[in-house]
Amino acid sequence: MKTVLITGAAGFLGSHLCDRFIKEGFKVIGMDNLITGDLKNIEHLFPLEHFEFYHHDVSKFVHVPGKLDYILHFASPASPIDYLKIPIQTLKVGSLGTHNLLGLAKVKNARILIASTSEVYGDPLVHPQSEDYYGNVNTIGPRGVYDEAKRFQESITMAYHRFHGLETRIVRIFNTYGPRMRLNDGRVIPAFMGQALRGEDLTIFGDGSQTRSFCYVDDQVEGIFRLLFSDYSYPVNIGNPHEISIRDFAEEIIKLTGTNQKVIYKDLPADDPMQRQPDITLAKKLLDWSPKVDRSIGMKITFDYFKNLSEEELYRSEH
Ligand code: NAD
Ligand code: UDP
Repeated sequence: MKTVLITGAAGFLGSHLCDRFIKEGFKVIGMDNLITGDLKNIEHLFPLEHFEFYHHDVSKFVHVPGKLDYILHFASPASPIDYLKIPIQTLKVGSLGTHNLLGLAKVKNARILIASTSEVYGDPLVHPQSEDYYGNVNTIGPRGVYDEAKRFQESITMAYHRFHGLETRIVRIFNTYGPRMRLNDGRVIPAFMGQALRGEDLTIFGDGSQTRSFCYVDDQVEGIFRLLFSDYSYPVNIGNPHEISIRDFAEEIIKLTGTNQKVIYKDLPADDPMQRQPDITLAKKLLDWSPKVDRSIGMKITFDYFKNLSEEELYRSEH
């Protein structure tokens, strides 16, 4: 039986990856310090014989006994309000945390996949974004703590690959959504859905002309799974190219949720990218992968998940 270590296991993507690898017959070791995650996302795995959990901050030395075949490094705050609240931890988990996991991969002779992001492209001047675009990031802006940590993460991963011959994979994840997102994480989908459920107006930042392209979690997990088992060491975009402006997206959510609320406009956060759409030509060719879940279906599943949360969760403002 192959063993996989998944960091950020109690988070949104990490918990779905744990489910997928368990389903595929792997032994899964989850690791998380719960800074933005929730054990609720993986509690169903605790009774399983082939699941283990370590409560640990990966920015500190990481030790795991026994053999490891694969490491998926997904630990990191991922939403703008999270990484603005904990900027130093964000920089540390992308840099020191990644260094620790690369070192662990080296001693265990394991293949490692790291979770990078479309944010490495910053506020892109090329559209759609393909992997050969170097990006447009403000290093000293408030979002820089996340973007630059992820850019460093890619660099050190390539250095371990080139210098130590480590087997590495880099996924550049574009906005992904689905059940187990935290309702109060500030990202646009939980924000709009939470507002609709609480009977509040939907807050559009800026004039809403900025665009995003939303990928359903099952599609994202499938892309990551295929990339891990490919033989390609350079970054690969995984995301859904179906692009929409935030203004039109708010209208879609109003229709889906049936809310009577309206939209209100607030200031655009600093360095908020104006447009984002993945070019997935490489993933299609290399992994024979493309997204399958239409936004109308994925959003319905996600809304059903949020609808079933308790009152306490719906009104909880702090994590
Ligand atoms: P999330 O906040 O739900 O999950 C992150 C998990 O990492 C949490 O459980 C958190 O407690 C844990 N964590 C953070 N710092 C840690 C540390 N120092 N040690 C141990 N655990 C730590 O976020 P997510 O959306 O699931 O994102 C997961 C990964 O995917 C992140 O690396 C993120 O940058 C990347 N990503 C996500 C998206 C997306 O749209 N969801 C887009 C691009 C990249
Ligand atoms: N956004 C918004 N209202 C909200 C939350 C977010 O208009 O209540 C906007 C945000 O400014 C950004 C887009 O929605 O332009 C996507 O934001 P999110 O935080 O989900 O992702 P990211 O900016 O990291 O792509």
